[in-house]
Amino acid sequence: MAQRELQLVSADIVECRACPRLVEWRERVARVKVPRFCHEEYWGRPVAGFGDASARILVLGLAPAANGGNRTGRIFTGDASADFLFPALHGAGLSNLPTSTRRGDGLDLRSTYITAVNRCAPPKDRPTPQERDNCLPYLVREIAALEWLRVIVALGEFAWDGALLALGSLGHKRRPKPRFSHGAEAEVGPYRLLGSFHTSPHNTNTGKLTPEMLDAVFECAVELAGLTGLREVDPPLGSVATAPRPRPALGSSGAPGSGRARG
Ligand code: SF4
Repeated sequence: MAQRELQLVSADIVECRACPRLVEWRERVARVKVPRFCHEEYWGRPVAGFGDASARILVLGLAPAANGGNRTGRIFTGDASADFLFPALHGAGLSNLPTSTRRGDGLDLRSTYITAVNRCAPPKDRPTPQERDNCLPYLVREIAALEWLRVIVALGEFAWDGALLALGSLGHKRRPKPRFSHGAEAEVGPYRLLGSFHTSPHNTNTGKLTPEMLDAVFECAVELAGLTGLREVDPPLGSVATAPRPRPALGSSGAPGSGRARG
């Protein structure tokens, strides 16, 4: 049933043209290509979520990158954000590969589903509030379909707020609203919401988000989702390529906002 509903949501997403500004932008980026991808055929449409229909962990981003998901047709695929995210997912036992390069690359998520608040690449990575609200019903449907879902990892404040709005639509409101920070944790209805800085180069190239900080977030997510045996019992395929990184505690980096706060 979850699989079927997720397929229906995805089918609706890829046909959507509800935001004229984003439709124009995603199609223009697909037409006027950057030199490094000039020979590639871009997806240039909304990007659906993907992963395990029995997922206990949902990884939530902002939107597809103009030359990442908007090119490859899969969220967190073929860009620098994916290059930072997938070693952490693989190390936590949540994916069979430490990379996400293109559809058909053999990537398989384990008890994890990945999606975004907005499904079309926005100019300057900034959807308007109206564009966010236009897209939120898709996230609501995905969360409702994922019947085993326990933990939502929000990558960035936009995703954090989007998750709270979607959960509110499902009748799980939190007052006062839990505040976002890296390492923030909030109980919202039957779910745990975890905050992490986004894996965009803006954060990772400046050291605001380090691999160790992200590893700690996913270690926490795995524990909260009751998946602690996953890595030990069934090592990720492809683990010969990258050994799991050592796992520090949340907030051990000393970065601002890295403390684990309950919302
Ligand atoms: S951002 Fe969402 S609501 Fe807007 S056009 Fe894309 S898929 Fe549709």
